Amino acid sequence: MATSGYLENAEEILSAIASAIDRNQRNSNLLSDIIDTACKPVSPHLPAQQKVLLAIADLLPQHLDERVALTAHLDNRVRLFVCSSHPSCDNPGLATYVSGLWTTLNEFVQHRKSSRRHFTTKKRALEAAGDSKTKVVGDRDDERGSELLREERALQDKFADHVYGRCEGRVRHEIIRRREQFKEFLSFLDLKMTGMGPERSATIKRMSSNLNRYLEAIANGTPVIEEGTGKTLTLYYIVAFLDRIRRKEDFKKLMIPLSIDFRNETSFDLSFYLHKIVRINESIKLACIEAPRTGFSELLQLEFTITLCPPVYQTPISLPGTPQEWKNFLRKFEKPFGMRFVDMDNIVDMLLRTYTPAQSDSRPIRYHTEIELLTYLYQTKVLENIAANAPAKKDPNSDEDLFIATSHQPCLACSHYIEHLGGKKHGMPSLGSRSDGYRYAFPWQAPGGGLENTYRVKRAFSDEMTRNICFRLKKYGVLVKADK
Ligand SMILES: [Zn+2]
Repeated sequence: MATSGYLENAEEILSAIASAIDRNQRNSNLLSDIIDTACKPVSPHLPAQQKVLLAIADLLPQHLDERVALTAHLDNRVRLFVCSSHPSCDNPGLATYVSGLWTTLNEFVQHRKSSRRHFTTKKRALEAAGDSKTKVVGDRDDERGSELLREERALQDKFADHVYGRCEGRVRHEIIRRREQFKEFLSFLDLKMTGMGPERSATIKRMSSNLNRYLEAIANGTPVIEEGTGKTLTLYYIVAFLDRIRRKEDFKKLMIPLSIDFRNETSFDLSFYLHKIVRINESIKLACIEAPRTGFSELLQLEFTITLCPPVYQTPISLPGTPQEWKNFLRKFEKPFGMRFVDMDNIVDMLLRTYTPAQSDSRPIRYHTEIELLTYLYQTKVLENIAANAPAKKDPNSDEDLFIATSHQPCLACSHYIEHLGGKKHGMPSLGSRSDGYRYAFPWQAPGGGLENTYRVKRAFSDEMTRNICFRLKKYGVLVKADK
């Protein structure tokens, strides 16, 4: 096929090149960038609605590799639109689960409000008596206060139990997937500890055996009994113990440097591993912190509906198949950017290694969930209605009323594409701030049909992708400024 045949699919091929660079050219610096960004907490500047939706998006996937994109149209009722990459995700099961999330979160929020009222009243009373400095608000001699805190804890546990009732398998599989590498890390620690002082090695030993104990208990489904109370711990608390270990100063001082040494040799990263395991707990906490805030707590009282967007299958575009075809495609970069490939053969080789003809066959693929969700909203005219009603909003500068939240960080192609669709002015939701500029994914395909034609973004998007890929290739020294 001539190069011109590929120009129509430039966006998809650019995304494929970026993805291949990512997979083949990773050095340890870049890998640590990716890990750091993946572990980044949700930005504090996001509105409460977006934060809670991000938390909820993360609490929806039932399976390890399931990706969920979620949007809520927040007018006088809540309309949730959910798109899952997993074919087993079904509407009645999802609706029951989300209703449970919504109800238990609402119970927690209403209770939180009444306990805050209690403590505010108490503080005022103490202030009036001139005694607020010596008394701690919420202390033990306040029986009603302690009761309220106990109830609040119980409601948070109820919410967590509901989540783990669905997501337990995800945590277990996350542990099992890298269990062998974790064991190798433990042996590595044993080796390193022989050259250490007794105090340091005892601390490391204690932390690693606790980690191992909790991880094994979750993986095998064996109960963990709490010392002192004799109670069997729920998964939420076992994971919380793991979280507590990784936050300790000793862990940061002693364990992290060793885990970096091990990562450089084997690519197993303990921090990343633990981060993925405690993620559901973090999302539960985020939901419980943010949901009581103004902007979200009101929504919990509204009626809501859930729509599961149907999957969209399509034939993937075909990538260049021969060295000459790839070369012709890449040459296109050189002229407009005044660049020259230092080693064209090498990069073509990498592309051919990544995309063998078997991988670029024509079996149907799905769009990424973010794109599927948007396509559905477009086709069912939800976007159109939101755009039409936008001027009627009380405050046009107020926060958006449609957000996209994703359970995973969206890939670079999706985040740029959605940006180019026109943002708020077309009622388009924004992807928030979780794109990191490194995460590429292929197969990736731009939505065809109405959405693309209406918003005419392909040109702008492919310029952006071209710039981005040139930047990456320059970073690796395979593309340099052309000689005059
Ligand atoms: Zn994507």
